[in-house]
Amino acid sequence: MMRLYNTLSRREEDFAPLRDNTVRMYTCGLTVYNRGHIGNFRTFVCLDVLRRALKYQCGYAVRQVMNFTDVDDRTIAGAQKAGLPLREYTDQFIEAFREDARTLGLEQAEESPRATDEANLRAMTDVITALERNGHTYRSDGSIYFKISTFEGYGKLAKLDHAGIQPGARIDSDSYAKDDARDFVLWKATRPDEPTWDYGQGPGRPGWHLECSAMALRLLGEPPIDLHAGGVDLIFPHHENEIAQSEGATRQLFSRFWVHVEHLLIDEEKMSKSLGNVFTVPDLVTQGFRPSALRYLCISTHYRKQLKFSWASLQQAEEAVQRLVDFLARLESIRAAAAHPDTQARVVKAREEFGATLEQDLNTAGALGIVFDLVRALNTAIDGGDVGLPDVAVIRSAFEDIDRVLGVLALRRSEDEAAAIPAGEVERLIGERKAARSRRDFAEADRIRQDLADRGIVLEDSAAGTRWKVVGKAQ
Ligand code: AMP
Ligand code: ZN
Repeated sequence: MMRLYNTLSRREEDFAPLRDNTVRMYTCGLTVYNRGHIGNFRTFVCLDVLRRALKYQCGYAVRQVMNFTDVDDRTIAGAQKAGLPLREYTDQFIEAFREDARTLGLEQAEESPRATDEANLRAMTDVITALERNGHTYRSDGSIYFKISTFEGYGKLAKLDHAGIQPGARIDSDSYAKDDARDFVLWKATRPDEPTWDYGQGPGRPGWHLECSAMALRLLGEPPIDLHAGGVDLIFPHHENEIAQSEGATRQLFSRFWVHVEHLLIDEEKMSKSLGNVFTVPDLVTQGFRPSALRYLCISTHYRKQLKFSWASLQQAEEAVQRLVDFLARLESIRAAAAHPDTQARVVKAREEFGATLEQDLNTAGALGIVFDLVRALNTAIDGGDVGLPDVAVIRSAFEDIDRVLGVLALRRSEDEAAAIPAGEVERLIGERKAARSRRDFAEADRIRQDLADRGIVLEDSAAGTRWKVVGKAQ
């Protein structure tokens, strides 16, 4: 049984879906005013592993919605600055997100709605209508606000101190601080140069918080949904306001579990576009790193702990992935036919411990520790001649199973397959280098080795011949 820390209760709880063995899950997606940075992707990678753990470890079906926030203060400001229509401006960052998500091995959510799709804008109108009916709104200068004093549970997620809330004060911007809790805007009156829609509540555009409530209610069915997730910065005001809107409109609990991923930091600060300290996935690739190393780095620390990014930590992640790859490659050299029950039992036990550790609030760091302990034990077993071909089959199947959740090794394999140099070309160059060495033309042999290294291929000579591996350009 999966245990998850629920921000709503501030406790770890047993998690299971409410209905039909299907987890209905909403993940706040990217605000597409820019290419997502690796801080955003830390959250998305951790939530991808949560999704995979619920599917492959716990055996549930998952129906996940991950939206694109394609209208809000930041996207509108960006489009204005670029002199582009909003939709055209955001298209490019949605495309970039899809590319980065693929590159990082994220499974695709069942639904990835855009807030400005008509069905979603209509759903927002429906939420506003229900909120008006239930007495949670008022209008002012053509805008519609949510009156927080009318919603008894306001503040239950962020644990707000109600003494600090100023009745009647309102706020129009999408983001504001916890000590500035105000009536927030649901629908902003039309302004010159801003996109505008009218589905019956007057011309204007949605506030950010309304978008997610409407898309979750439209696409995930009868509330409560099972799980709602995002980074910790979304707890207030975004998720607090989502709860107020959704529960104010439906009079039902909105989400049973709230899961929040801690930030990725750089130089002790949150990585964020507004601080200007961001790197993107292509930035890392340009530096010679592989997306699978970033994926590994993202899950090497528990999701509820801050993750300090540095190039050294990324290099360490690369080395860790390489250790796993080397271990699996080593299995190929095994020829002995005998089976070793002790070895197989060790593998089965590790697989179980891996699962049990993951189920402790998605403890990926602990689960990786179990994998590396196993690799060490098996390397020793191979040295001692205690691994035969039947054991190799058991080991491979355990690693495949484990990697269905982690998604690191499969990603690495697809990177290798897409490597700039086809395997045949590498083999041909290795042959040429061998010929050069046998005619004692060491300069030519070195040139070929260097040429391959420049293209991210490292050669390893041994008595058995030359092996090669793809390591990326940095090394
Ligand atoms: P945004 O595009 O700002 O709406 O953010 C998209 C997702 O990335 C949200 O779940 C944020 O909480 C998350 N996020 C933003 N910055 C970071 C960061 N430095 N580390 C981890 N997650 C982040
Ligand atoms: Zn959201």
